[in-house]
Amino acid sequence: MPYHLLVYGIVYGIVFAMGASIGSFANVVIYRLPLGIDMVKGRSFCPNCHTQIKNQHLIPLLSYWFLRRKCHHCGASIPLRYPVIEAVGGGLALLAVFVYGLTPLALCVFALGALLLVVAVIDMDTMEIPDSLVVCLGVLSIPFALCQDPPTLVSRGIGFLVVSVPMLLLTMAIANAFGGGDIKLMAACGLILGYQNTLFAMFVAVVLGGFFAMWLLRQQKVGIKSQLCFGPFLALGVLAAQFVGTTCITWYLGLFS
Ligand SMILES: [Zn+2]
Repeated sequence: MPYHLLVYGIVYGIVFAMGASIGSFANVVIYRLPLGIDMVKGRSFCPNCHTQIKNQHLIPLLSYWFLRRKCHHCGASIPLRYPVIEAVGGGLALLAVFVYGLTPLALCVFALGALLLVVAVIDMDTMEIPDSLVVCLGVLSIPFALCQDPPTLVSRGIGFLVVSVPMLLLTMAIANAFGGGDIKLMAACGLILGYQNTLFAMFVAVVLGGFFAMWLLRQQKVGIKSQLCFGPFLALGVLAAQFVGTTCITWYLGLFS
């Protein structure tokens, strides 16, 4: 095997393992934050029998298979969601390093992806986006501004308002058009993306959310009036914008020139 392939393999392996470990922590945050349990204090425990989980059973992904999808103590089955979120964490880390190299920007993009993952799953669970996560995204916009230019600071400032204000106005006109958490999320992500990519993110979210809503209606799983959980679509839109937004916008504008 060529030497450089081996080095790539090891580096990407380490990157994936680190991402999966953060994904494992994301599981903790997703479980504890809505319940108001301290995030860092106290060992991880089984949600069913509250037994502390042993160190050797805390390895992301691998433990799930070692333990045969069951709690070692009480035998309660571990939801598939836990290893899936760990794998998504690993995948996000790989993607960030693949696109941005081993740079501070890759770290910022991974942090963005991990936070959005937590936002999306908590929104699915509770239909709410905790303010603390939105504040984290707002703070994350500072290292983003230091690592990535463009978008300029002016563009980031406009990004804060360009989607959030119309969402707010729409929600004032039509009650419950959007949740307050969705609006704050798009304001914070606007600071990270700049205004063009924020618009792109919203476009992707509306298209994906629209298709999903139509699919749900066709399946007759929901009525026309029922509330769609929009956070996961916004999260997908923001990530798509970060990775391919500028490329897509440039291509689209090129069609008219
Ligand atoms: Zn248990």
